Amino acid sequence: MSSSSPPPTIALALQQAAAQGLARIDAQILLLHALDRSEAGRAWLITHDTEPLTLAQAALWQDLCRRRLDDEPVAYLTGHKEFFGLNLQVDARVLDPRPDTETLVEWALDLMPEEQAMRVVDLGTGSGAIALALKSQRPQARVLAVDASEQALAVAQANAERLQLALEFARGSWLEPLAGERFALIVSNPPYIREDDEHMPALRHEPRQALTSGADGLDDLRAIVAQAAAHLERGGWLLMEHGWDQAQAVAALLEQSGFTRIEHRQDLSGTARCTGGQWPLAAAA
Ligand code: GLN
Repeated sequence: MSSSSPPPTIALALQQAAAQGLARIDAQILLLHALDRSEAGRAWLITHDTEPLTLAQAALWQDLCRRRLDDEPVAYLTGHKEFFGLNLQVDARVLDPRPDTETLVEWALDLMPEEQAMRVVDLGTGSGAIALALKSQRPQARVLAVDASEQALAVAQANAERLQLALEFARGSWLEPLAGERFALIVSNPPYIREDDEHMPALRHEPRQALTSGADGLDDLRAIVAQAAAHLERGGWLLMEHGWDQAQAVAALLEQSGFTRIEHRQDLSGTARCTGGQWPLAAAA
């Protein structure tokens, strides 16, 4: 669309986006955003498909398409993302929350009985997605959200405030800021991509420190497993998300550190995406 042509109708705008190679769902979400109709849902576009965009909407829409084609996550362009039924505000200060991470939330919830004031910590909370999902489902739990990035903590804090979910926050590397504290449950979706992974260029708009972790992608998972024993109550669990091919490596790390009942959980595509273990109930004889 050249800037001199009249603004397109909704139907034409979507056709033009498809011709440029935009995924249909992305185009629909971005167009609703450009029209300030995000709440309306995608069916609204169909029932209004002959309506023309205003000049300002067309200019905004054009810019959103260009940025999406340059790999910016849809969530950064709209400023929000749905995660576990919560509307989170996200931007380039934090990782774009992935639906696969809901697997980790579901596993954690299985281990969190209702009506118990369990103490839980989410390491590398980013937008606060995991911690907020747990708090929303288990209001009695005391959920602490940790991140090394002050900017990420600002995003998580703003989300907690807006959603009126009371989290506690700490800044630092994994469990380091929590000397002497013990938890019934530690959860984390840490960076786990190899530095030289071929997918990194496509993820360049997201914070690199939230994505990559050393030559084999396991540096942070190793650090978390190494620190966890000193911070778990007896019988407490450590659950981690990891890369599609890291389940065995993470299980081995847990075993070497003395964890028992090591298990995996699969993501939406059936890949073992989370691995966890229990800190033994009794000291080994
Ligand atoms: N699952 C994300 C991806 O592969 C990475 C998230 C992470 O590193 N924790 O794009």
